[in-house]
Order: sequence, then structure tokens, then C-alpha cells
Amino acid sequence: MAAPEPAPDLLLMTSTALRVPHVVAYSEETVSLALTVLVDAWALSGRRLSYIDPAASDWGLGVLWARQQSHRLGRPQYDELHTLRQRECMLHRLCQVCAKPALDPDTGRLSWVFHETVHAASGHLSKPPTCLRCIPGARAACPRLRQEAHVYTSPDYKPWGVKGIVFSSGCPARQDVPLTDHATLEFTLARALIVHVSDLRPESAP
Ligand SMILES: [Zn+2]
Repeated sequence: MAAPEPAPDLLLMTSTALRVPHVVAYSEETVSLALTVLVDAWALSGRRLSYIDPAASDWGLGVLWARQQSHRLGRPQYDELHTLRQRECMLHRLCQVCAKPALDPDTGRLSWVFHETVHAASGHLSKPPTCLRCIPGARAACPRLRQEAHVYTSPDYKPWGVKGIVFSSGCPARQDVPLTDHATLEFTLARALIVHVSDLRPESAP
């Protein structure tokens, strides 16, 4: 006897639940902490944080970026962004779900989905935009967005800083560091790029 057909909404849940957003980190994508402090005549303090086997590709925007494995093994960690995939999305204006261009060609704007109302028209964001094609699937798959979803759009943004771990004194501390704070950036391991968005406008959710 043939198995009964799933109800339409069960089909939707099954198809959306399978899609893990591009920026989500997996449990086995470990971050290397094989760090040291190197003498660097170009650094403001004469020293800077580095991997013990430095490569030019470790640095970008004036800061050292975490080396994180990128093989998508293990379980998706929905509350954790993968450092290099997040940076790729932010730098190239890619959708955090499908990694395709996030800019709406009809309006020239980027779209963002939040689980609560945003009261400011400008501010700092570390979660990349979500393209209009992916918003319905994100709302169906994410428990928090199923309860409440607010869609906003903005024009293009500017890199503002990084979410990182600062090793300058005492215990390493998580900190948001502006790209203008060169002294702190020299002792920061960057984990995510923060951008400044302005002219955030509420929109009806697709
Ligand atoms: Zn998308």
C-alpha cells in the first residue's frame, strides 16, 4: 500500500527545514587559536597578534581573521555565524541563506529580517542581508521568525568594524572594534564583520 501523501504544510516544513543558511557554522568547523604576538615595525605598538605560521590571507581590513575550518561537518549551530562565510556575504552583499546577490535589482535595496521591531533608522548589523527569494523560507524554517518577523530594507552599507576577541591585556575579551581603532585591531582576532546601515525602512514581508 502506498504511503499517504504528507499534508501541504508538512511538505513546506520538510523542504525548508533542510536548508541550512549559508552563514551558519557547523559544530566541527573549529577555529584555530594557534596565536602569538609578532614584532612588527609597522604596528602602532611595534607588535601585533598573528598566527604562529602567518599567511598574508590571514589579514583583511587591517585585522587578523579567525582561521575556521569550512567543511560543513557536524551539526548546524544556528546561533553561530561562520567567520569566513559571514565576511564573504558582508563584503560581497550576498544573501545569508543562499549566498546569491542580495540586492533587489528593481529597488537597489537590501532586505533584512528581524524577529522584533527595529526602532532606529540606522545602526550596526553583523547578520548579512536575506534576499527577497529566501525570506518566505526563512520565516517558515526559523522558530523565532515563525512567531514574529519584521522585514526592513536599506540602501548599500559600509563596513564599520568587527566582532572579535581582543588579546591586548588580561583575559581575552569579546568586543566590537571599529575599523578606525587601529591600536586595538592589532590585538584582535576578528570573528565577524559589522556594517553600518542607514535609511532602514519597514516593508511588508513577502
Ligand atoms: Zn537568498
